[in-house]
Amino acid sequence: MKFTVWRRHNRDVCDSTSRYDPRCGCPLHVQFVWKGAPGVFEGKKLTYQNKWSLETRSWSEAQSKVKDLEKRLKDFAEGKVVPKGTTVEAALQEWYEFRDQDGLDNTKAKLMGGKLVEWCEKNNVLLLTALTTDKTMKWRLTLPFRSGDSSSLSVHWSVISAFFSWAAGMGYIERSPVPNPKMNPQFRIRYKKAEVKPPTKKQVEKILATATGQVRLLCQLMRETAMALVDAMKYAMSQEGIAQHYIPLPLSFQGCTLDPSLPLAL
Ligand SMILES: [Zn+2]
Repeated sequence: MKFTVWRRHNRDVCDSTSRYDPRCGCPLHVQFVWKGAPGVFEGKKLTYQNKWSLETRSWSEAQSKVKDLEKRLKDFAEGKVVPKGTTVEAALQEWYEFRDQDGLDNTKAKLMGGKLVEWCEKNNVLLLTALTTDKTMKWRLTLPFRSGDSSSLSVHWSVISAFFSWAAGMGYIERSPVPNPKMNPQFRIRYKKAEVKPPTKKQVEKILATATGQVRLLCQLMRETAMALVDAMKYAMSQEGIAQHYIPLPLSFQGCTLDPSLPLAL
């Protein structure tokens, strides 16, 4: 078998033109032709043409890794290694069924599962056991959800974390590849909750002074009952005579927006 080691240049930081640059520092890959039957080898898809990362940037380490790989591939070809394990896709299918039976909604689960399978295909990961923590976190970086000011990454991530815990529970993997954010806080997904600023006393006075008709009535109701806007709205809607008009949420007056979930604090 002929193995070619080459560098996959990271074009963001490297402008080397040589595939065999001796020291640019980009990741080294190996390329080889497999003439045996296609199959799964160490969790990777083994096809005719294969291009795999060697997970090193050093030539000497790459050479010894290739030597090792050649030996393992030879053993594999001779039937000394039996592939076993559950594929990512099969495990996901089973998980959906499991959730279905529990009456859980599968929309987010299937969205995330689909993205995981897509990433695994691109990165030659076939078996669930091949999804190591570093691979799982690399996949997380490719997800199109925002963090920072939005909880959507956090919400979707918790869905797929549940998949890995389930798979560990089923015995398909030894433990979930998702780091526990309690023990490894650097993996926690951070986002700021939108800050809620209750109106000041002055702003409330202004609202009461300028609001007219139904809005004024609503504001007075909130002030007297300490009900939040949403509750006051429901209450007002249920009262005869007030129900005719729809009052848009959230209410805004002169640069002061009322949070629908907060009482008109005084
Ligand atoms: Zn390079």
